[in-house]
Amino acid sequence: MKTHVKALVVGGGAVGTSIAYHLARAGWADVVLLERDELTSGSTWHAAGLLPLFNMSYAVSHIHDYSVRFYKTLEAETGLNAGFYVVGNLRMAQTDARMDEYRLYAATAETVGINHEWLTPADLKARWPLLRTEDLKGAIYHPEDGYINPADVTQAMAKGARQRGVEIIRKAQVDGYRWTGSEWVVSCTRMVEKGGNLVASDERFEIVAEHVVTATGNHAQRTARLLGIKMPAIPVEHQYIVTEPDPALVEWRKAGNPEHPVLRDADAKWYVREERGGW
Ligand SMILES: Cc1cc2nc3c(=O)[nH]c(=O)nc-3n(C[C@H](O)[C@H](O)[C@H](O)COP(=O)(O)OP(=O)(O)OC[C@H]3O[C@@H](n4cnc5c(N)ncnc54)[C@H](O)[C@@H]3O)c2cc1C
Repeated sequence: MKTHVKALVVGGGAVGTSIAYHLARAGWADVVLLERDELTSGSTWHAAGLLPLFNMSYAVSHIHDYSVRFYKTLEAETGLNAGFYVVGNLRMAQTDARMDEYRLYAATAETVGINHEWLTPADLKARWPLLRTEDLKGAIYHPEDGYINPADVTQAMAKGARQRGVEIIRKAQVDGYRWTGSEWVVSCTRMVEKGGNLVASDERFEIVAEHVVTATGNHAQRTARLLGIKMPAIPVEHQYIVTEPDPALVEWRKAGNPEHPVLRDADAKWYVREERGGW
């Protein structure tokens, strides 16, 4: 195990793994990633994996646009399928105000060069008969959008990072950061499974790093405390439901129809995608 590195990344979710991968791709081979449990054991494991290209931010639109292109190349590089499904993304509107909001999204999308189509309720019904369209004003559709499997994409990035020289150490928790004036001394604890729980062992070690990047997700407040800084962010709960197979959907797919786009009805406050014959 390396004990002196140029960059230490803390956290093996989608974000930390991507940072380690991209540092290596930028030529920083001397990188270690530490994960307290297993890769993707944080929020990444739960995410729906949607890549909504339409959003209000020019910068975030560019990041999403980059991601969509990047995930397509990752499999060729690593041999691991990143689980990227280009099914499109359909945002439905129940009000004129919502349609106006989508026009604003479209304006941002156009500056980034992202395709979109406007659809009337009749267009929607003709294309996706399972949709209930009576209360809709219309929708905006982005055909190149889709979703990834967050765990698969993280494992693919981890493999790509390892191939480029990154060392990934699992079951190692960072418990302290000390800046000496020229480098970081990072204290770590080896974690072990005991009775189904992940607990700290007595084994401690240190890694000295020129740069530290923390990507500890929901643990960010603890990370901030360890660093003696205030983190102006809080975790929020987000529920999801996986349904049993839907007979109407199963029939629709059996007839050879393609997967539905990711469906969003912001006025009803939900989004949904297909999942093994259900939603
Ligand atoms: C139900 C749900 C649906 C979602 N849907 C979407 C979606 O459709 N699209 C989308 O873009 N996002 C979605 N998200 C959000 C997405 O999951 C997160 O933004 C993303 O996974 C965060 O990744 P991360 O790497 O920052 O954090 P995490 O995945 O939480 O990773 C942080 C990692 O750091 C490790 N760690 C923490 N502290 C330490 C330490 N001291 N030492 C070592 N390791 C440490 C943890 O064990 C963890 O593995 C969803 C989230 C949820 C919960």
